[in-house]
Amino acid sequence: MADILKRPMSIKQVPHSRIATVDFNNIPFGRVFSDHMVVMDYEDGEWQAPQIIPYGNLTDMTPGTSVLHYGQAIFEGMKANRDENSDDVLLFRPEENGKRLYDSAVRMGIPPVPVDVFMECLKEVVKLDRQWVPDVPESALYIRPFIYGNDPFIGVKAAQRYKFVIFTCPVGPYYPYPVKVLISEKYVRAFPGGTGAVKAAGNYAATLYPASIAKAEGYDQILWTDGLEHKYVEEIGTMNVMFQIDGKFYTPKLDGTILPGITRKSVIQLLRDAGQEVIEKKVSVEEVINAHKNGTLQDMFGVGTAATITYISDIGFRGENYSLPPIEERTISQGIKAEMEGIKRGRKEDRYNWITRV
Ligand SMILES: *Cc1c(COP(=O)(O)O)cnc(C)c1O
Repeated sequence: MADILKRPMSIKQVPHSRIATVDFNNIPFGRVFSDHMVVMDYEDGEWQAPQIIPYGNLTDMTPGTSVLHYGQAIFEGMKANRDENSDDVLLFRPEENGKRLYDSAVRMGIPPVPVDVFMECLKEVVKLDRQWVPDVPESALYIRPFIYGNDPFIGVKAAQRYKFVIFTCPVGPYYPYPVKVLISEKYVRAFPGGTGAVKAAGNYAATLYPASIAKAEGYDQILWTDGLEHKYVEEIGTMNVMFQIDGKFYTPKLDGTILPGITRKSVIQLLRDAGQEVIEKKVSVEEVINAHKNGTLQDMFGVGTAATITYISDIGFRGENYSLPPIEERTISQGIKAEMEGIKRGRKEDRYNWITRV
């Protein structure tokens, strides 16, 4: 275990919890924050001891703070759920988030946080704010770990100071409506050698303008294609994408421009263990459109932490709209979704050891 964890973590608790002011039956997403947060500074060439303090402003930021200029920032997103059979709080594959944050840090020139330190910080803050995990069916505690360059210096170089933070937000049930996606042949999210495979903040900033154009055309999100030829589908917003064509499942293979989703990995495993064939390969726009034309495109969905599986209802491509089969007919992915959400909430056996209990 890393040296900085040798002593007990310093915890400064709030004098009065704000929890009584929250209506857990009616929580706006991402606007209600739990009482505490983890903060850990990188200074003098090393990560200093993590601390838990009351949620609040980060007071050591100035106009010259490096992240505001050059965007050296990375993040993670995960959810904690209440176990339906005990008082435990359940985290779904949290080490995977820790590893991905590590990889994101390396790619962005940020000193990585060791995965064991990440896990200790995460468990401590969730334990302390466990009352904030909503006790309302299908609600969750959203967890946002992130790291940013915190140098008061505007030269273009990797910062020498960083801050690692974990804060949490109770969130209500997420019943996603089916999503209409527009295939982009102009803008790209990622390109070979770029940062598409890591959760770098700037990746998302660059998608907001193209997303607003898609909205104006009546689509909810963009289905990104590869940056070289716009020939292969890659992913959607903050979700990986899967197709069911003529009985088999397909998903773009991780080739350096696609974010390696933990949901993607888990859904592939559940599908395979249910006897389904899952093929990871480059998936061309042409084969998806052709499958639609000849009636073999049975299912298409996004996979990500927010909703596990989000159904796609329509694809827009070159001025045409292609509608997908009704959700009721997509029985295999529905079964997988129920299985995975069951595991996350203790309704289904944790047969893969995916759950960490707090
Ligand atoms: C976070 C994210 C995903 C999904 O990852 P999960 O670990 O399943 O939540 C997919 N694509 C992008 C671009 C993402 O940022």
